[in-house]
Amino acid sequence: GLSVEGLRKSFGGVRAVDGVSLDLRPGIITGLIGPNGSGKSTVINLLSGLERPEAGRVLLGGQEVTGARADRLARAGLARSFQAAALPDEAGVLEAVAAARLAVDPDAATAEAHARWALDRLGVGGLAGRSCDGLPAALRRRVELARALVRRPAVLLLDEPAAGLTDGEKAELAAVLRDLAGEGMAVLLVEHDMGFLLPLAGRVLCLDRGRVIYDGPADGVRRNSAVAEAYLGPAGSA
Ligand code: ATP
Ligand code: MG
Repeated sequence: GLSVEGLRKSFGGVRAVDGVSLDLRPGIITGLIGPNGSGKSTVINLLSGLERPEAGRVLLGGQEVTGARADRLARAGLARSFQAAALPDEAGVLEAVAAARLAVDPDAATAEAHARWALDRLGVGGLAGRSCDGLPAALRRRVELARALVRRPAVLLLDEPAAGLTDGEKAELAAVLRDLAGEGMAVLLVEHDMGFLLPLAGRVLCLDRGRVIYDGPADGVRRNSAVAEAYLGPAGSA
């Protein structure tokens, strides 16, 4: 799992992440919600080594990794997806997924097999021979997710993976995430769609201006007044 205490990051004097603590436990999907600009993606960027925290302590699998770079975190079992799927356009799908495996495990002989496994797992094994260039958005998202999954991470950080998916695709993704958690993966799921998130999440944190304003069970989110206020503004202001 991953354990974070007092994480902080500012941009130009604004605290985008202001003292966030959370635990991602094996087998649990933890939801991270909050209005636009509340710091969700910045938390994922900090945890995945894309940004360096100003303060805070991060333990991955019990090892101190505070301030570690993305490549070291990836080798230590952490993988992430991006809010906007970024794929190498020139590459074939299988090649792009295998490359993500090779980045953490130099065994070229098994990279392709892992890549096929990850694509199958996401229901897009048929894309293996295609080029990334020109794939529709929903398929790009799955290939991007395959690039995280192919590393068989212990901790998976997902930034709005269901955005732009149809209801049917969301249901398929939900089933995959439930299975992965069932196999012991620790998952952080940033999501705006509560109908998608709440049935999956064992626990939910809500951010508002970089601070955790709710940390509790999924079924308490909808009737929590602090969460409602963060999304709607203080009562009477609208
Ligand atoms: P959304 O739901 O729209 O994706 P978010 O909760 O992911 O929002 P962040 O992207 O983490 O929010 O942004 C938090 C705050 O930090 C915002 O005020 C944003 O403008 C600011 N911010 C994020 N990244 C940077 C950056 N690289 N440089 C400057 N400001 C940034
Ligand atoms: Mg974001």
